[in-house]
Amino acid sequence: VHGLITIRRGPGGGPSVGQVDAANLGRVSTLFYHLGGATYSELFEAWRVSEATLAGLAAANPDRPAVEAAMAVYSEPGPEEPEIELDDFVDLHTHFHVLVAELVDNRVLELMLPTSGLITTHHVVNNFDPRELRDRVEQDHAAVARATGAGHVGQARALMDDHIRGLIAYLEVRVGDQLEDLVEWR
Ligand SMILES: [Zn+2]
Repeated sequence: VHGLITIRRGPGGGPSVGQVDAANLGRVSTLFYHLGGATYSELFEAWRVSEATLAGLAAANPDRPAVEAAMAVYSEPGPEEPEIELDDFVDLHTHFHVLVAELVDNRVLELMLPTSGLITTHHVVNNFDPRELRDRVEQDHAAVARATGAGHVGQARALMDDHIRGLIAYLEVRVGDQLEDLVEWR
């Protein structure tokens, strides 16, 4: 039930309460997007606008020590690592964006704004192998992390906007005509 309640059948079963999670809010909203005639092209734009907004809000968070500490981990691209599994790469990428959202000092925005990106990951990114973008992604994240950690609001927004724009350009070529398909309810 909206990812919030799981009902197990049988002896010892019954309802249990899950976690409040932006991914589940995203899943619920796909029904509305689908019925409202929204396309993947529109979802991508919402993703870019939302992520840029989140980065700006995280950079503006008055709790500077918390933001600086969280962003420090990402401020330099990691050392050359050997092959990484696709799932691990996607998780690692998603984790940075989840972290930026958690640094937003507003629980409504923190839940609402990541949804387009999470739907995109679930519906689109998992169909491709974005590991070829790995170097670029790490450099982008490092640049966003430095600007966000330093509290440079405009720069954090612009860098995140650029980062998502690059990912969209990569995906658009691969998705092709399906860009104009309705967002699926799932
Ligand atoms: Zn990213």
